[in-house]
Amino acid sequence: MCAIVGIYGNVDAAKLASAALFAMQHRGHEATGISSGGDDSKKIFTVKKCGYVRDVYNEEAFEVLKGNMAIGHNRYSTAGSESTFDAQPIHAKYKLGEISIVHNGNLVNKNEIRQRLINEGSIFQTGMDTENLIHLIAKSSQDRLRDRIIKSLTKTKGAYNFIIQSRSKLFVVRDPYGIRPLSIGKLRSGGWIIASETCCFDIVDAKFVRDVKPGEMLIFSKNTKNPESIILDDTKEFRPCAFEYIYFARPDSDIDGKNVYSTREAMGKELAQNDKNILDVDMVIPVPDSGVPSALGYSKESGIPFELGIIRNHYVGRTFIEPTQAMRNMKVKMKLSPMKSLIAGKKIVVIDDSIVRGTTSKRIVKMLKDAGAVEVHFRVASPMIKYPCFYGIDTPTKDELINAVKTKDEVKEYIEADSLEYLSIDNLKNALGKETNYSMVSFDGNYFVE
Ligand code: AMP
Repeated sequence: MCAIVGIYGNVDAAKLASAALFAMQHRGHEATGISSGGDDSKKIFTVKKCGYVRDVYNEEAFEVLKGNMAIGHNRYSTAGSESTFDAQPIHAKYKLGEISIVHNGNLVNKNEIRQRLINEGSIFQTGMDTENLIHLIAKSSQDRLRDRIIKSLTKTKGAYNFIIQSRSKLFVVRDPYGIRPLSIGKLRSGGWIIASETCCFDIVDAKFVRDVKPGEMLIFSKNTKNPESIILDDTKEFRPCAFEYIYFARPDSDIDGKNVYSTREAMGKELAQNDKNILDVDMVIPVPDSGVPSALGYSKESGIPFELGIIRNHYVGRTFIEPTQAMRNMKVKMKLSPMKSLIAGKKIVVIDDSIVRGTTSKRIVKMLKDAGAVEVHFRVASPMIKYPCFYGIDTPTKDELINAVKTKDEVKEYIEADSLEYLSIDNLKNALGKETNYSMVSFDGNYFVE
């Protein structure tokens, strides 16, 4: 998961990077960091801390973050720990000067590479797979940074979007499968933005230019008006992640030419078209926020009225760490509340984007029944998650995935729903469009990167 951003050629680079990170807070809120620098400064400056974007960047931080170039990161750990130690950017000094890196994705051969580097004498400062790349670049025998990056990437496998800052240039890379999203925009106030999601372009007043191509490297420097583009690897099939559309990305983002909101709505429509069991219910309600577009699609397709039967408290963040069992039990009540007057005595279809461990769905069914619902039919706007994802989505091990260890009927019993249906893989493909072979490892276990 995680969000990354790069700004090139704007005097307010760090401020624009922080605004973009604010718009992409949903991609991670354990820690955030920005490195800046550029043509006029001889150094790279870095500020990174645990916490939300709004709490980390202030006037004091912007005093430090000088220059017309910046890279930034919001952290959601899929590798490494949850400490500032493992916050990004990772900034280092090496033979050719200074370098700072941000990464979104997950490197599947990280342990193998790390062990080899350790055996060769490297000392690691963090638990992150991203640090491998710093070592590979530092140890490379090539003369130019671009060649060091290219050489290092030949040893790196998995899902990766990297933005790398030197003292005067910005390098951007998307892995050959294009698993994670990465888009380029032009800032109306001057310069460029590269970001995980287009939802941040409005805030910084940028115009979408295009998505970074799979296997492409872009180099931003003062030598060229437009970034230099080098295709490093065009031998792989384009396999963007379906889960970005299902759960992870913000609905107002467009990823690789497709709007997230409309694909989620299409998932809801597909779900309704294939839902033979719903004959007589009073309303369809979403689990907010992630179930809203698919519940709207379900309602439009089935003709069942859409209602906001669950109200979400937006002030419950991850800072609300659950120290005791009693607090843990309170958590879903703190975040979601049933609209009792709407629900009592009614038959309900409730829609969420996914079932992972089954914890949320079980609590929601109980909450709705406690509020007086007479029937609760659970509908999931994605297929059964049966396999862990190793390409950058945070999923637990296989034995914690409820759909991997229980049948559909057993899950229905476990969550105590009156009925349970999922979107099929085929219907998900219909909603996403069949022209692209999306990565669906969580559903089909087809690990196309070893
Ligand atoms: P669970 O309670 O484990 O079944 O998780 C399902 C809920 O978590 C759903 O409401 C999803 O919106 C949300 N969710 C799905 N995938 C993820 C993820 N990778 N990380 C965090 N939350 C997720």
